[in-house]
Amino acid sequence: MSTREADLRINARADADRPTPGPNHHTVVIVGGGTAGITVAAQLTRGLWNNTDVAVIEPSDRHFYQPAWTLVGGGAYRLEATCRPEAAVMPAKVTWLKKAVTEFQPDHSCVVTADGVKVGYDYLVVAAGLKIYWDKVAGLKETIGRNNVCTNYSYDTAGYTWKCIRNFQGGTAIFTQPKGAIKCGGAPQKICYLAEDYFRRKGIRNKAACGAGPATFGGGSFSCHCCPWQSPFWVAKYGRPALSIAVETIFGHHLVEIRGDAREAVFENVNNGERMVMQFDMMHVTPPQGPPEFIARSPLADAHGWVDVDKYTLQHVRYPNVFALGDCSNLPTSKTGAAVRKQAPVLVKNLRSLMAGRPLTARYNGYTSCPLVTRYGRVVLAEFDYEGNPLETFPFDQAKERWTMWLLKKYLLPVLYWHGMLKGRA
Ligand SMILES: Cc1cc2nc3c(=O)[nH]c(=O)nc-3n(C[C@H](O)[C@H](O)[C@H](O)COP(=O)(O)OP(=O)(O)OC[C@H]3O[C@@H](n4cnc5c(N)ncnc54)[C@H](O)[C@@H]3O)c2cc1C
Repeated sequence: MSTREADLRINARADADRPTPGPNHHTVVIVGGGTAGITVAAQLTRGLWNNTDVAVIEPSDRHFYQPAWTLVGGGAYRLEATCRPEAAVMPAKVTWLKKAVTEFQPDHSCVVTADGVKVGYDYLVVAAGLKIYWDKVAGLKETIGRNNVCTNYSYDTAGYTWKCIRNFQGGTAIFTQPKGAIKCGGAPQKICYLAEDYFRRKGIRNKAACGAGPATFGGGSFSCHCCPWQSPFWVAKYGRPALSIAVETIFGHHLVEIRGDAREAVFENVNNGERMVMQFDMMHVTPPQGPPEFIARSPLADAHGWVDVDKYTLQHVRYPNVFALGDCSNLPTSKTGAAVRKQAPVLVKNLRSLMAGRPLTARYNGYTSCPLVTRYGRVVLAEFDYEGNPLETFPFDQAKERWTMWLLKKYLLPVLYWHGMLKGRA
């Protein structure tokens, strides 16, 4: 569809169904005030554009820097430093509606919030992140944060991961990865490698009986990473260093049940459905994740429930005045804040072009990045595009573990996040 046709379609929708301009109507409505929503809001209201009428609908009064939760779980970062009040990151010129969206009505250019109010828009940006489905693993909700079952995938539990690692006295430590898309595909491995390194330094790891395959489950003290894939990292260049780390990896299995009190985990073979039970002494769970229900059941969703956008322009494929980015979108790249950093300026440029009646020329190439923490003080900085081609920032081989990249991950990236990205500086 051409931009002209798109504009006509939008204008055609400016009918009696749409909430009339007023307090419940904004030029741009952004759903979600997380990494993507705040970055876009800040860029949209910067400089000459600071009179653009932008509203962010966000129910939470806390904003998180989630990438540091890996380091929190490894005891290398302060939990409190990963959280700031939402009010502190909300751009000054933006209207903050502190409530949740429950429904999209894109044919009427409005969203409905939990209190039943319709908020109308000329342009919509969906940036509501993904949802963690704790219920999809039987017994997980009941045992997470207890029984040495931990996860870095929430602010409330990342601190407990470090407690489990610190108190581990030997035995079996399991690190899981679920089927399907997750935030930061490398995070389940990173915490495994940090724990592994910690156990080695503490002298526990050398009791280990490490090998390949289920034959070694019987005894010894080891860390084991269970994931449903056949390789720890799908981009070959960065998979090699990960494979060289001596943790036992059980491919093709995912966690389906935890019996916390008995310290038993049940895994299912993704190919033949066979189940096996493993005893554990500590377990880090990466929970199943997916699109939030209010998106999945909306007209904006694709067949899998993610917001259906063009992978280059980030414009919705059926509703031209709708855009999406970040974890809630169906962009076929790994779901990271780093990807959002490159998506946001493309979205903002195309949105402004649409507003001005110009063609959408900005293109997103699928860039994403994963600072793969391989041990304390060492990081492999993976950066690649939609096709898995490396898109590296530095003039050296980034597949090598480096101390400088650890410094980047631990010290520089958080500063760039709070003071650069969230302020609208690309
Ligand atoms: C353990 C861990 C490690 C990670 N490591 C890295 C890393 O090393 N590098 C990296 O780049 N990325 C990493 N990430 C991923 C990164 O944090 C996410 O990809 C990024 O936050 C996505 O931004 P988003 O805005 O799409 O979602 P979020 O930042 O999650 O924001 C979504 C927002 O939408 C709001 N929302 C939800 N429902 C509604 C509703 N109904 N109405 C309105 N608002 C709603 C939420 O409250 C939230 O504020 C990691 C994540 C985790 C959990």
